[in-house]
Amino acid sequence: MEQKQINLRDGDCVSLWQSEVVSSYSDSALDIAKIFDVVIVGAGITGLTTAILLQQQGKKCILLDGNGVGFGTTGGTTAHLNTFFDTTYPEVEKDFGDGEARLFAEAGKEGIDTIQELTRTYGIACDLEYREGILYSETEKETKQLLEILEASRRAGVDAVETRDNGIPVEMQFAVSFKDQAQFHPLKYCKGLLQEFIDLGGVILDQAFVSEVSSQDDLQIAHVGEQRIAGKSLVYATHVPPGVTIFNFECAAYRSYVLGIKLKNGDYPEALVYDMQEPYHYFRTHEIEGQPYLILGGEDHKTGHENPEQAFKALEDYTRKYYYVESVDYKWSSQYYVPSDGLPFIGLIPGESNTYVATGYNGNGMMLGTIAGKLISDLILGKENKYQKLFSPSRIKPVAGFSEFIKENADVAYHFVADRFAAEDIDSFKDLAAGTGAVVDYKGDQLAVYKDDQGKITALNPTCTHAGCTVKFNAEEKSWDCPCHGGRFDLQGQVISGPPRKNLVGKNVIN
Ligand SMILES: Cc1cc2nc3c(=O)[nH]c(=O)nc-3n(C[C@H](O)[C@H](O)[C@H](O)COP(=O)(O)OP(=O)(O)OC[C@H]3O[C@@H](n4cnc5c(N)ncnc54)[C@H](O)[C@@H]3O)c2cc1C
Repeated sequence: MEQKQINLRDGDCVSLWQSEVVSSYSDSALDIAKIFDVVIVGAGITGLTTAILLQQQGKKCILLDGNGVGFGTTGGTTAHLNTFFDTTYPEVEKDFGDGEARLFAEAGKEGIDTIQELTRTYGIACDLEYREGILYSETEKETKQLLEILEASRRAGVDAVETRDNGIPVEMQFAVSFKDQAQFHPLKYCKGLLQEFIDLGGVILDQAFVSEVSSQDDLQIAHVGEQRIAGKSLVYATHVPPGVTIFNFECAAYRSYVLGIKLKNGDYPEALVYDMQEPYHYFRTHEIEGQPYLILGGEDHKTGHENPEQAFKALEDYTRKYYYVESVDYKWSSQYYVPSDGLPFIGLIPGESNTYVATGYNGNGMMLGTIAGKLISDLILGKENKYQKLFSPSRIKPVAGFSEFIKENADVAYHFVADRFAAEDIDSFKDLAAGTGAVVDYKGDQLAVYKDDQGKITALNPTCTHAGCTVKFNAEEKSWDCPCHGGRFDLQGQVISGPPRKNLVGKNVIN
């Protein structure tokens, strides 16, 4: 087995976690004819947790990632571990019921407990620490909401009390303290899980993008380039399943922005802190090699709908309003999926007998990705799991016109509009600054054009290969982002995240 070092993620900005290099393993001697018990697609927290729990139980698993461990949102998370969620307990009580709110709260606690248990069992040094979590209000309206959250949290069995201090230099009206919350280093944790998975006999292939899955004789067959990898069950741990699916209607893609900051006065928060603005800000501290960093996130918006440069600027302006900033050492953004009814979709894909999905975690995928690992592994092992019904993807009601939508999408022709694109034509792009990109008109068609620092132009068809929307340039992460369902492509047009299965078509032109 060949071992190499991979620490990339799905964007140009570097997250605080990436100094932790995750070794990845590609098995060049892999016996392709072998039938695995479970093929797991995606090596973030969901895929790794599922893989280790199944391998522990004697299932033969293979983990396939189009890139490497932590390349997706797990490498761009902020890794707060909470017993409360973006979907609040009053919302869950109202939409699902009191018992369901209690069960949701149990999932939060069990997610943290499971991370703690795996960390202890395998001796994973991932900086796991228990902290207080503080949610605070700044207006009358927020205070009213927060009082309702406090009451509903208690009814759901969550240990929450009023507190007089939010632990940060932002003036507050009211605050609630949640006990036994936690934080950790997500890539150190993933690295530990990966090592144990391999030690237990699990197989991982990185750079293994699954472009298609077909069925044959009760087997699910993942297509990776020319390779065919067969399993009795298949799990999409890809954050959102690839292709045009019902989940595109049920989960909206959002980006969130994060700064990693050194402070002048050591005023780093002890607790995990959240305001109630929309979108909210979230705060915590993490030490990397003895240096503390304030990690401050927020300015979320739908992917491809706002300007990422402005989002970072707004976040930095907000930070400087309250903190004495010595330096902004890290800034990065990442993607998450907001479920239509507030709860994640974890379990069998509707209409399938051995293909599983885990998506729609909102900003709570550390706990919910862990619970997904437990729930899906229990389903595959034929065990009962108390969250099966609450998180079942089958609760999705059929969407009117969905099959028409798939049919139409299948007809989209993703040809490159400028096959005979000539170097002299790039005159029309001379106004484009080096290091930037834009969708421009070109002889009656549109092109997604990027000019690198040497003036070399890459021109792509801007039509997203997922559902035919037009991509937008993300100047911060240097990617082409689709505003419809969160498909994202790198500067060469390769899929980097979201539901697309095919790359953007295009070519390079030397200036
Ligand atoms: C800025 C930000 C902060 C957050 N903070 C928190 C937090 O504090 N606490 C919390 O609980 N949650 C948080 N979240 C949410 C959480 O990080 C995510 O829900 C979680 O990381 C998702 O993990 P995952 O394993 O499901 O997906 P990912 O980590 O995205 O992994 C998916 C993997 O699948 C691979 N893949 C995709 N498609 C294919 C394919 N076709 N073939 C092969 N491989 C494929 C990708 O390369 C990737 O490695 C945050 C999210 C954001 C954006």
